[in-house]
Amino acid sequence: MNRYGIDPLPGLPARVTVCEVGPRDGLQNEAEPVPTDVKAEFVERLVDAGHRVVETTGLVHPRWVPQLADAEDLLRRVERRPGVRYPVLVPNRRGLDRALDLGVEDIAVFGSATESFAKANLNRTVAESLEMFAPVVARARGAGMRVRGYLSMCWGDPWEGAVPLAQVVSVATRMLRLGCTELSLGDTIGVATPGRVAALLDALTAAGVTADRIAVHFHDTYGQALANTLVALRHGVTTVDASAGGLGGCPYAKSATGNLATEDLLWQLEGLGIHTGVDLGRLAETSAWLATRLGRPSPARTVRALTGT
Ligand code: MG
Repeated sequence: MNRYGIDPLPGLPARVTVCEVGPRDGLQNEAEPVPTDVKAEFVERLVDAGHRVVETTGLVHPRWVPQLADAEDLLRRVERRPGVRYPVLVPNRRGLDRALDLGVEDIAVFGSATESFAKANLNRTVAESLEMFAPVVARARGAGMRVRGYLSMCWGDPWEGAVPLAQVVSVATRMLRLGCTELSLGDTIGVATPGRVAALLDALTAAGVTADRIAVHFHDTYGQALANTLVALRHGVTTVDASAGGLGGCPYAKSATGNLATEDLLWQLEGLGIHTGVDLGRLAETSAWLATRLGRPSPARTVRALTGT
């Protein structure tokens, strides 16, 4: 616990759920294969630190993301504990078949707010990608799964620049209508600033999307992730994606670096007296441990400050 003092600010939630994305979104960008036993230990340590939502891997074709080629092996190794959710990225019907065989209970699908990124990442138009998700989401929901929808490029796209609010709202509402239980709004290249975050959340509210169905996924490329998070919390968002040790970015967008580090997020939330259930000290030790396995120091400032690495 933060020994430098805790002072709440008005208008913020009492509790926040952190969706820990380190094992999937973080590690998928590692150039060298990370051994499956290291990944399994990483997931176990994240849960030991108090995480209750850990995005574990993705059942995607290994040609697209070689680092996730061991997904099935990893899912068999990780002991799934009661009360903990282990979402798995599933791109299509084939991925869902594999997820069902493995007893996965939470999946995530990956969409784009822009045509350029849909083309680059999914090799489809936005409309075609939604057509591809529709049967996957319907079948997953029918099987009792939760389905998290990722929506990329919500605030900016490297090819298209600023993304019109109406366009993001349109894709977001379509993904929710398909049956996504939660929508994670991604600032995939980290260009959002606080007023832009407020504008999109206001536009979604006006379109009837309630904050309890929204998560935010900020990247710290321009140092804005925590400022943007605070704005989202003020808008009633209570699920925040973050990556232990600040692992990862996005392999398809050249300028995308730096998921928000979970430790930096926890430092802010603890100081505000917001409960997450995650032990910052244990998490920082986990990130320092993983950094030694990856052979380089953690890029997360709070990890370095707390562990002296
Ligand atoms: Mg990310």
